[in-house]
Amino acid sequence: MIMGSVRLVLFGPPGAGKGTQALYLRDYLNVPHISSGDLFRYHLQQKTPLGIQASEYINKGLLVPDNVTIEIVLDKLLDLHPTDGFLLDGFPRTEYQARILSEKLTTKSKDIDKVIYIDVPITELVRRLSNRYICSDCQAPLQLNPSEPKICSLCGGELYQRSDDNTDSVNTRLDVYQRETIPVLDFYRSQDLVITIDGTGPIDCINKRVQRHIETWLTQ
Ligand code: ADP
Ligand code: ZN
Repeated sequence: MIMGSVRLVLFGPPGAGKGTQALYLRDYLNVPHISSGDLFRYHLQQKTPLGIQASEYINKGLLVPDNVTIEIVLDKLLDLHPTDGFLLDGFPRTEYQARILSEKLTTKSKDIDKVIYIDVPITELVRRLSNRYICSDCQAPLQLNPSEPKICSLCGGELYQRSDDNTDSVNTRLDVYQRETIPVLDFYRSQDLVITIDGTGPIDCINKRVQRHIETWLTQ
């Protein structure tokens, strides 16, 4: 496998640290990072009809309907060169999305190579999501205590709290994850694509675990 051509899905519950690992993996593997959540937030910022439609679901913690989601993500993916790698983050989140993705990729080029599953217990997720802030410049997700200044430690940008990181939405998102997204994991497990990573502990330890697993896979 050549760097730059690896096709990965980053998988895990909301708050597992997919966004953080994505920023690191994107540089390590030299592939573009395609985040469905970032794409929706971008559309909303630009006030496109699609963005406004999606925000009604997002703010309630519900999944955006499959047809809308698939269109916006595939649009990005099919722009790539057939041999380019990528890092998908937040997509697929339903079994239907996963099936359509495989279908489109295999007719156009090649299917995904691996799914990196970041495993974190539910109790930890609730705590993380309520302390989460996002940088308005570099999009990095950061954990802050309420008393800390709302400034990004990576780039100095201004931090904001996502409108769907409130208690009601967080609980709904975790329920939706169990009900609609776990089947995606089973779908990929049946194809033997899943690498499971313990997503608890300090970020640099998790980075190292991810890197070690990917190196083992790439050199086998
Ligand atoms: P997180 O994983 O932390 O919940 P994301 O930024 O990945 O956050 O997604 C935010 C919201 O965007 C989700 O709660 C959901 O409403 C919507 N969304 C993102 N990806 C998808 C998807 N693949 N299918 C449906 N809705 C999605
Ligand atoms: Zn920043």
